[in-house]
Amino acid sequence: MGQGDARDRSRGLERESDVSDESVVREQRRAETIAAANGIGTDTAFGAVTPPLYLSTTYTFAEFEQPRAYDYARLGNPTRDQLADTLAKLEGGARAVVVSSGMAALDLALSPLRPGDLLVAPHDCYGGTHRLLSMRAARGHYRVAFVDQGDEAALAAALAEGARIVLTETPSNPLMRITDIRRVAALAKAAGALFVVDNTFLSPALQRPLSLGADLVVHSTTKFLNGHSDVIGGAVIAADATLGDELAAWANTVGVTGSPFDAYLTLRGVRTLFARIERQERNAAAVAAFLDRHPAVARVHYPGLPAHPGHALAKAQQAGFGAMLSAELAGGREAVRRLVGALTIFSLAESLGGVESLIAHPVTMTHAAMDPEARERAGVGDGLVRLSVGLEAETDLLADLAQALDIVAKG
Ligand code: PLP
Repeated sequence: MGQGDARDRSRGLERESDVSDESVVREQRRAETIAAANGIGTDTAFGAVTPPLYLSTTYTFAEFEQPRAYDYARLGNPTRDQLADTLAKLEGGARAVVVSSGMAALDLALSPLRPGDLLVAPHDCYGGTHRLLSMRAARGHYRVAFVDQGDEAALAAALAEGARIVLTETPSNPLMRITDIRRVAALAKAAGALFVVDNTFLSPALQRPLSLGADLVVHSTTKFLNGHSDVIGGAVIAADATLGDELAAWANTVGVTGSPFDAYLTLRGVRTLFARIERQERNAAAVAAFLDRHPAVARVHYPGLPAHPGHALAKAQQAGFGAMLSAELAGGREAVRRLVGALTIFSLAESLGGVESLIAHPVTMTHAAMDPEARERAGVGDGLVRLSVGLEAETDLLADLAQALDIVAKG
């Protein structure tokens, strides 16, 4: 992704040509054109280059008993369909369903589960995902087993109990653990389970789980796909058209389809996805290398660092290492308090994937919904901070971290 220079400058990081095999890079180039141009120039009314935004909730019937292509916007909307078509193509799926949030997307992807069915989920995942699955399980909607998916014996044991769906989040939020999508896909398939991958942290610009064997991809489009921190949205992309149609019908039935305006903004964000993520990743690589050298930082979790346990796997299945990382401060929660108080460019805020750099403290923010034992089991500790690296000048980002960490080091 043209980030070779920054990687050369960043101690120990890899060059682009090492990151992924040729077919991944070829697919990605095609995807760049889809992101920038899918649906452009298709307006038949006035020849508008940018597809128009249709806000109408309802559409006239051509005649009695003759609806047109669209009749009611919960079921179908041209603007939402433009986004869905673009996302389906980007992920290499048969159909995408655009919904109102990432949580709605996860819930929709898991809607095939019936009472008694077993869901195998990651033991470390976004806190809201953990809460959704725990609460659905507590209400008897399905059973859930939270499993360390890097532990093949534990995964095989859970699958042997008759799992109906396996859910994976890779890289995981916030510890950036990498799960082998091909491997889990093969295990899930052998067990007769559907395989769902949350691709929020990388976006289809850097990872395409369907091509690695997943059945469904889930996104919080709130993050990198929209990229401007002004829309809450989600999407499910299905490899199989029949399953995609079933999920679309269910999204309409329960009323979680996304708003046309949000779809319009998200598609506008998708136009620049590759350019944004390429530059944000370059900044993230520099930030990771900087933090890795700093004495106030005990450990950096960034798959681009050769010492990261998922480094080789990330190189094999991703087209880049992404713009997310986390770091453990040697001074624990007090050090976090001082760091976030001293930073001026990184804002202390929830969410990620926007053009601006953000810092979050998972224990008190994104993962506060997880009970303390589950957090401990996942390895999310008090001194951990998560960084979403934006588009600011690399020198400014590093200077901001340097001055704030000086304050932390002085105690
Ligand atoms: N999946 C991941 C990996 C996330 O990080 C998030 C939110 O942070 C979600 C899903 C939920 O998305 P949303 O906030 O759009 O509902």
